[in-house]
Amino acid sequence: MINLLSDTVTKPTPGMLKAMWAAEVGDDVFREDPTVNALEAKSATLFGHEAALFCPSGTMANQIALKVHTRPLDEVICDETSHIYQYEVGGYAFHSGIGIQLLPGKNGVLEAHQVAAAIRPNQDWLPKSTLVVLENTCNKGGGSVYPLENIKAIRKVCLERGLALHMDGARIFNALAVSGDAPAVIGQELDSISVCLSKGLGAPVGSVLIGSQKFIAEARRVRKAMGGGMRQAGYLAAAGIYALDHHVVRLAEDHAHARMLASTLETLDYVSGIRPVQTNIVIFDLVDTVTPAQLLAYLEENGVKASAFGPKTIRFVTHLDVDRAMIETVMGVLGRFRVA
Ligand SMILES: *Cc1c(COP(=O)(O)O)cnc(C)c1O
Repeated sequence: MINLLSDTVTKPTPGMLKAMWAAEVGDDVFREDPTVNALEAKSATLFGHEAALFCPSGTMANQIALKVHTRPLDEVICDETSHIYQYEVGGYAFHSGIGIQLLPGKNGVLEAHQVAAAIRPNQDWLPKSTLVVLENTCNKGGGSVYPLENIKAIRKVCLERGLALHMDGARIFNALAVSGDAPAVIGQELDSISVCLSKGLGAPVGSVLIGSQKFIAEARRVRKAMGGGMRQAGYLAAAGIYALDHHVVRLAEDHAHARMLASTLETLDYVSGIRPVQTNIVIFDLVDTVTPAQLLAYLEENGVKASAFGPKTIRFVTHLDVDRAMIETVMGVLGRFRVA
């Protein structure tokens, strides 16, 4: 099977498994796991912040950030396609007792004037706007990259109006591979950022949440309350360190593979449109005479897995476990599909 369902499906490479086997571990709840401590220090330094926290999932990292940055009856501002709204089970309301204001960005990317206009005036009967969340890259936006100018302009609005700025950086390294910016250049514009190690970076489990010493101290308490305090987590952290050291540099390959798929899709008469492909996500729409279920069944029969992403829409995600030969196979399979 060639699995294009998500970049979360990767399995640890032999080199990563070796690093995991060799990890020195301890009880991380007592802060005694040297490998977790090393991953946290490395992540914080990379993004130019004081501290970081290893979390079991990107969802937990984001939910902890929402909890620490807000109080009940506050409101978070984000794009309507955001993972924190679409795919985290409404956790913002459950864990933090906050509301959410959704803005229509372009492929998931917001402009500073939209954010400025969304901030509520200070009135007893209104929710309090205290946090902005940006997703980079934006999954539902087709893996779109936030231009640094947008981030800087939104940061300026946040500083002027007293809001915190969090980045859902599940795929931040895909974004940086395209923009060429150093992690710290984006990090310095943010109060916090969550980074997935288990997406394109290929670790089996884990995300890091990064921010100030004070923010992470509180985040650590919230993580424990959510049941996310892990013990000998160094085995997993070792995979994360290995991923940062070895798998960041190869992300451009995934992006080239995504462009190859898009170049085939562009020639197919059963495809009605493709979202701009900037990174490792390809989202495309089908003509009315073909359903996603039909195409997905055909792909599955031919050894290719993908997922529907709406009533007319399909998503492919390229990653570490899909090589160029596999991509060429998929291109051939796509070209042979005939509308029944
Ligand atoms: C995957 C993802 C997350 C977190 O996902 P987990 O599966 O909980 O690790 C958060 N934000 C975005 C944009 C994602 O794609």
